[in-house]
Amino acid sequence: MTPPDKADAPDEFELIAELFAPLAATAPEALALKDDAALYVPTPGYETVLTVDAMVEGVHFLSDDPAESVARKLLRVNLSDLAAKGATPRGYLLVTAWREGTPFAWMRDFARGLAADQKILGIALWGGDTVRTPGPASFTLTAIGDVPAGQMLRRGGASAGDGLYVTGTLGDAALGLMVLQGGLDGLGATHRGYLAGRYRLPEPRVTAGGRLRGIASAALDVSDGLMADLGHLCAVSDVGARIDIERLPLSEAGREALALDKGLIEAVAGGGDDYEILFAAPAGSDAVLARVAAETGTPIVRIGTVLPAADGINPVDGAGRPAALKHLGYRHF
Ligand SMILES: [Mg+2]
Repeated sequence: MTPPDKADAPDEFELIAELFAPLAATAPEALALKDDAALYVPTPGYETVLTVDAMVEGVHFLSDDPAESVARKLLRVNLSDLAAKGATPRGYLLVTAWREGTPFAWMRDFARGLAADQKILGIALWGGDTVRTPGPASFTLTAIGDVPAGQMLRRGGASAGDGLYVTGTLGDAALGLMVLQGGLDGLGATHRGYLAGRYRLPEPRVTAGGRLRGIASAALDVSDGLMADLGHLCAVSDVGARIDIERLPLSEAGREALALDKGLIEAVAGGGDDYEILFAAPAGSDAVLARVAAETGTPIVRIGTVLPAADGINPVDGAGRPAALKHLGYRHF
């Protein structure tokens, strides 16, 4: 029997044919989504890099977030992990668990978001699964990339004396979330819109990340917040660090927000969802990094120095005094 609301309740095979097969059309690995599995033939001399991230309704996105931006963020946060490893994205696997009653139009917008980013980022869907759930909705994406053998950037590898660098600007997403939750109302509409956009649509630093192979001694993407992720890098590398708080790169909107409330530096140093690359590189790397920045159109600034592990992690102000910041007390070791 055909349910009366069939248009809004397509079955699994209709969803695959209508929404997902077009996303897989350009990838031979996907076998047109007609087999049980994808088939990936790695390029000789390259290693495969895999990463997976999930987004859960009410936890990682809001129920009224646009479907397109939910899908694009899911793809982008995974590509950010590949970028921080110096990997070139090749394809992805996707599990969609739709909340019962999700309108087909929402699902179609979700697929549209993926299609838009596939064009921008040069990858395609290789396979996955689609199910229904009483809720909340959740979406899980596995991204697959590759690097020349032995060249994946790791969290371990930084040594005392290395410089610490970050791409792009920090804090925009954390400030953008405040905007979306009704905060920062002293800020102009353009800046508010910019920050919200940075929360909804991170910019995975794929091109710059690839160029850091052979330069960076350690790298990771900033997803938990600068200080927390710096703690992760230092723990795995068994080093400490000094971070110059006044050198943290801010967008124009971020600078405006801090001009209104200096306390927002906490959001810059501690807030999450930046999806910029934090990395260490040996002393003397400034010139080559300036070239990478110029050639990839990606700002790269030095924000500190790697210290011996015994020195711990030290945020300092412009005069070199310990910065008095609540959320900067991360000591992961
Ligand atoms: Mg990461």
